[in-house]
Amino acid sequence: MRTQRVITAMAIVLVCLLMPRSGPAADPPPAQGRLRAALLTAEMATSQRLAQCARDGQTTVVLVLDDDSRAGRAAVAAVTQRVAAASLGLDYWIEVGRCPELADEHPAWMASLQGHSEWRRMHKDFPQPRTNEVVKNYPWIPVLYRESFDAHVERVKRLLADRPACGRVWLNDLQGPPSACGCGNPVCRWTADYGPIKTATPLGDEAAAKFVAAVGKVVPSGARVVPVWTTECEEHDVAMDALCAGVGCFKGICWKAYTRQLGPLADEAPLIGVLGLYKQFGQDTDAYRQQAGWVQQAIRGFAQMPPKHGGRAVEPQRLMMVVQGCDVTPDELASQIRQAENAGAAGILVAYATIDQSWQPRMYQWR
Ligand SMILES: [Zn+2]
Ligand SMILES: [Zn+2]
Repeated sequence: MRTQRVITAMAIVLVCLLMPRSGPAADPPPAQGRLRAALLTAEMATSQRLAQCARDGQTTVVLVLDDDSRAGRAAVAAVTQRVAAASLGLDYWIEVGRCPELADEHPAWMASLQGHSEWRRMHKDFPQPRTNEVVKNYPWIPVLYRESFDAHVERVKRLLADRPACGRVWLNDLQGPPSACGCGNPVCRWTADYGPIKTATPLGDEAAAKFVAAVGKVVPSGARVVPVWTTECEEHDVAMDALCAGVGCFKGICWKAYTRQLGPLADEAPLIGVLGLYKQFGQDTDAYRQQAGWVQQAIRGFAQMPPKHGGRAVEPQRLMMVVQGCDVTPDELASQIRQAENAGAAGILVAYATIDQSWQPRMYQWR
């Protein structure tokens, strides 16, 4: 009798546990341990702003490091104290590939626009290069050349020297430049030169992975390096009015080269950031039924695309989604976060600071 009562009670408890909760469907709660972070410049990181970050459930501030001057260093040092006072974690963010200072000083190290000419739809008056000229992609200095690789390591080392301790160092743009093949798609980034004219020494597919390893030796003690990678073009981008403007990138080299570069990177870095600036990248189109649907697609691509091209899947648990936090409505931001959570991303970094991804053609005399 007693046993029967116990069994009945257990059954009731079990039924209660299995019953769907009533009330409106809530967003899925953040998974245990999922990183919630905010990308801020030193200027943006006031005490009020940091308090707001904490109220929003963010646990970490990722601070843009771009100023090596005495004043810039003092500003960062002050922010790190405010971040600690707000009981938030501290990471640093360094923009690598888009580098005006190196592009101005070493134009030969810039990536080029030699392949398809569809990029010209955005720069209609740009002249044709003569035989001694090549069109460069300003100010994109990829780590994919021996010369720029070394210069970038030195630059990152300088930026990180004598800084307060941090949890992670995020390195943005370790791929080729936007519109790499010339199609004009901001996330076509598989090469530095889609053509024969090289004005620096190309490195192999492991360049980005080696860069992560090199920076790992100069980060503040205990910090981890998180490379930030974009996805590639989508099949629907081939349409004349879409991002690849008729160029058959998707079925061409893009994903194959992407896979060859992502493999070594994934072997080197346990966590990878995904640059998911969906509106900035023109991905807010009808191609996706849900708002910010591309965000989910971008994360899934890391697992789905490499195996189709001889590589290994990179699962969402290893990906931190960088979503667009400026020039979006609160609703658009919420949608991006929901899409990233639904895809199972390991963390979400809201980029309230602008991540400049712009580029321009520049003529360069190579002989
Ligand atoms: Zn392309
Ligand atoms: Zn592409």
